[in-house]
Amino acid sequence: MLDTFYGFFTPSETPKKIVAGLPDLIVNELDKTGDIFLRPNTYGAGTGVNYNPERLKLVWDQKIVQAGIRFLLHTTLVDVVRKEGEPITCIFWNKSGFFKIIAQRVIDASGDADFCHLAGYAYEVAGELEPAQSMTTTFRMCNVDLDKFKQAGGKHMLQEKMIQAIETGKHPLPRKEGSAHEMCQPGCISTVAVKVSGLRALQAEELTQAEIEGRKQSFIYEDFFRQEVPGYEHSKIIGLSHQIGVRETRRVYGEYRLTKEDCLSGIMPADRIFLCGAPIEDHRPGKNGEDETFWQYIPENGVYGVPYGTIVPKQSERVWVVGRCFSATHDAHASCRSMAQTMSMGQAAGLAAVLSLDTDTAANAVNIPQLQAKLLQLGAILDNPATIADTSRNGWQNNFRVQNTLAHSL
Ligand SMILES: Cc1cc2nc3c(=O)[nH]c(=O)nc-3n(C[C@H](O)[C@H](O)[C@H](O)COP(=O)(O)OP(=O)(O)OC[C@H]3O[C@@H](n4cnc5c(N)ncnc54)[C@H](O)[C@@H]3O)c2cc1C
Repeated sequence: MLDTFYGFFTPSETPKKIVAGLPDLIVNELDKTGDIFLRPNTYGAGTGVNYNPERLKLVWDQKIVQAGIRFLLHTTLVDVVRKEGEPITCIFWNKSGFFKIIAQRVIDASGDADFCHLAGYAYEVAGELEPAQSMTTTFRMCNVDLDKFKQAGGKHMLQEKMIQAIETGKHPLPRKEGSAHEMCQPGCISTVAVKVSGLRALQAEELTQAEIEGRKQSFIYEDFFRQEVPGYEHSKIIGLSHQIGVRETRRVYGEYRLTKEDCLSGIMPADRIFLCGAPIEDHRPGKNGEDETFWQYIPENGVYGVPYGTIVPKQSERVWVVGRCFSATHDAHASCRSMAQTMSMGQAAGLAAVLSLDTDTAANAVNIPQLQAKLLQLGAILDNPATIADTSRNGWQNNFRVQNTLAHSL
């Protein structure tokens, strides 16, 4: 239910493209049918690549089928048997029953690090050391009169209305800020405004409570938008995320752990596998117990390189971990979890797994220059575009049907 890839570009007035390779393939496929536009966001995570999430589902299916990959949807990993030096037994459940796969290599992309948990790798659970980021049910609204909204003051007017609604107690909104932005579908708005905190996403009962609370808050917003915001009078919610959005749960301890200092000092390690320029964006309770978002930027619109060891669980020979459960502290994770970066992790782990099989090498001993050469062949960007003379490889944004029209993204 999200609809904006963040992390492809650095924030600032002069955004630089820092992620490429397979993620570009997906964006360009969406571009063919006009299902993409750029959303300037100079203060947040950088220019966003807005996509039609329904078309994206089709694109993923087609790309996977075209690549000849056998895959199963509706299938859950439920157990793992791991013995030193042997292939790994993964037990799954789906509507056909239980079955096992004997895996030579595994990439855990479960968000919650379910594989690593079941296989006995060490991890930190969000909330143990620092408050966990909150959860959000995203929702879409249709039939919004955007011209009227813009004429009435756009995003600044909306923010004032949100503050008023909270101060007067008329609408108990959980936040006085949040994102409400145009979608590819005309007259439709996508929002990231709900905020559910203090509940643990790995506990089924609390996750159930979180779903209930997230849906309740969504309709509090619907009342607020319809009653208070010009242009929204005849709008309605047409979709709630089918599952509440969970920002962080388990973060595996890897061969390397990305830290806040790494991000803010702009490290460029020799074993980097992708770049990130997004600020630390931490959704958590503020001093007065209010849920707010805290931002910390990489100085001078900079970028940092992410070491290979962040996607390799400690001492792992056959396993990689990618996505929001990769190896990072709470703060570093809050910078590096956008989708351009999580796609880059997947790209690097896939290539590393193949290299590891081809050369019969352990995950933690993969030849890094060889891996980087393969990443560059795919078009990945490993050098800070601000420091290289030839940025022609970064001209991909010109392929876009660029719409800089969006005025009211919060
Ligand atoms: C509310 C919210 C708003 C966000 N907004 C943005 C944004 O606008 N732009 C942006 O770039 N990023 C955004 N992010 C961050 C970004 O979306 C996530 O960090 C990223 O998508 C995480 O990807 P992932 O693949 O690690 O995990 P997920 O997207 O959670 O995918 C994990 C997958 O693994 C499957 N799975 C889980 N457990 C099992 C199991 N045991 N067996 C089998 N399969 C399993 C799940 O079904 C799921 O398909 C947002 C995050 C949230 C929560």
